[in-house]
Amino acid sequence: MVVDRTEGEKVIAEVDFSSALETLHPKAVYMLESEQYVVEEFDYENRKAFVRKSNADYYTDAITYTKIAVLDIFDQMNGENYDFFHGDVHVFSKVVGFKKLKFYTNENVGAGDLQLPQQEMHSTAFWITIKEHMLETVNISTEEKIEAISGIAYLMRHICAVMLMCDVKDLGVAVEDNITKTDINPRTAKWGERQNLILREFEPNIYIYDSFPNGIGFSEVLFARAVDIFEKVLDAIRSCSCERGCPSCVGPPIRGSDNQKDAARFIISLLLDRVYH
Ligand SMILES: [Zn+2]
Repeated sequence: MVVDRTEGEKVIAEVDFSSALETLHPKAVYMLESEQYVVEEFDYENRKAFVRKSNADYYTDAITYTKIAVLDIFDQMNGENYDFFHGDVHVFSKVVGFKKLKFYTNENVGAGDLQLPQQEMHSTAFWITIKEHMLETVNISTEEKIEAISGIAYLMRHICAVMLMCDVKDLGVAVEDNITKTDINPRTAKWGERQNLILREFEPNIYIYDSFPNGIGFSEVLFARAVDIFEKVLDAIRSCSCERGCPSCVGPPIRGSDNQKDAARFIISLLLDRVYH
């Protein structure tokens, strides 16, 4: 329940519990009918968020740490450079912080840490394993590879949403190392966790899961169109006029990395066994 404290206390909205953690955490900017509110207090026990009207020039984006446990594989397709799967998964997620992003430019103007309880959900997912032997042939640092993989995951989620004609938020995304089974998404992993990754090789899994308990049938459709998804990812990177990545392709550059877009394009080209120009 969203309670507006601007003048007295007035209930202005109800939000489903799972999205409340991402949209109504402390200090979140909450939008309702073109009005902006800032969350002053998030009462998890009583399921209430207390907000006050605001005219901040930024919005907030929750940073969610996600871990996937595969329960059952329904089908798989094995290629030389990749494996595709779809199956049953258990999703563990925890909102660990948030970013403040300026309206119109998406410029990062601040961040904060959050301590919120972990959520669990059973769902279905479509996922790809990008083989370590293929990534080894890409001549950039492990950190740059991780940033490129994160860019690919960002774009995959948006392409999948367009293909399914659903909202982007209907799909969850997680990037995990297949060897250590840890979150390696640089957009969500903390810097200390990321540093551990720089020294060694890794094999990423990119999961696109249904953001609804027990799944609603997206993963089977995505699995059937897996190659098509990567053709579209490559087309979107190639046709975007930006230089280093932007919200319309692989996402804004992470920490000002120069190579994220080029590396993402190169990795997808290799995946699809294309000649890279
Ligand atoms: Zn772009």
